[in-house]
Amino acid sequence: MAQYVIDTPAVVGIPVAGSDASFPVRRVYCIGRNYAAHAVEMGHDPNREAPFFFQKNPNNLDPSGTFPYPPHSNDVHHEIEMLVALKSGGTNIAPDRALDHVFGYGLSLDMTRRDLQGEQKKMGRPWEIGKAFERSAPCGPLHKASDIGHLDQGRVELKVNGALRQEGDLNQMIWKVPEMISYLSDYFELAAGDVIMSGTPAGVAAVQKGDVMAMRIEGLGEMEVKVV
Ligand code: MN
Repeated sequence: MAQYVIDTPAVVGIPVAGSDASFPVRRVYCIGRNYAAHAVEMGHDPNREAPFFFQKNPNNLDPSGTFPYPPHSNDVHHEIEMLVALKSGGTNIAPDRALDHVFGYGLSLDMTRRDLQGEQKKMGRPWEIGKAFERSAPCGPLHKASDIGHLDQGRVELKVNGALRQEGDLNQMIWKVPEMISYLSDYFELAAGDVIMSGTPAGVAAVQKGDVMAMRIEGLGEMEVKVV
């Protein structure tokens, strides 16, 4: 057993439906503008350009069902996204083999300090301060692909305090899950424990303390997350 000079950081685990064991997270990749209607609402061309990715930190994932409103923002947005968890990886993965690497799928929220992200965009700076803050990725349990199969269609919706805010369908993704895995594997070495947040449909908007966000994706059930 290796010796470390400080206490070792905890491994971040996502619960797995129907199991007592959890899924250990290595990296978190997030795709931008992957639904045409959301690209348009953010002021961008919805045509299929090369995908782009940013990252969150593993310990930004939070299955607790609460989201603490973060500091230094007055415009924190919800983005409901399907989470894709990998059980294996590699480089140069062909799209037609990509789903072999998927462990399962879950619900997630790419919470965004939109005002800070906007300032960074204007200055051509990285987005971390808007995207990769504490507990910025509330998530539900993973559902194993071996139990539910692979999801390439299904309604996606997010309600806030019972009112519908976001809706779309997994089949509206510009870059499909196998294409995202293949593309990422051309630039990075993917590995077991990596997760991908697969983009959000239109309707992103701000939340306030006290709001209850209810996320639902057909095939993955639903989950409430309270803003505290
Ligand atoms: Mn997003």
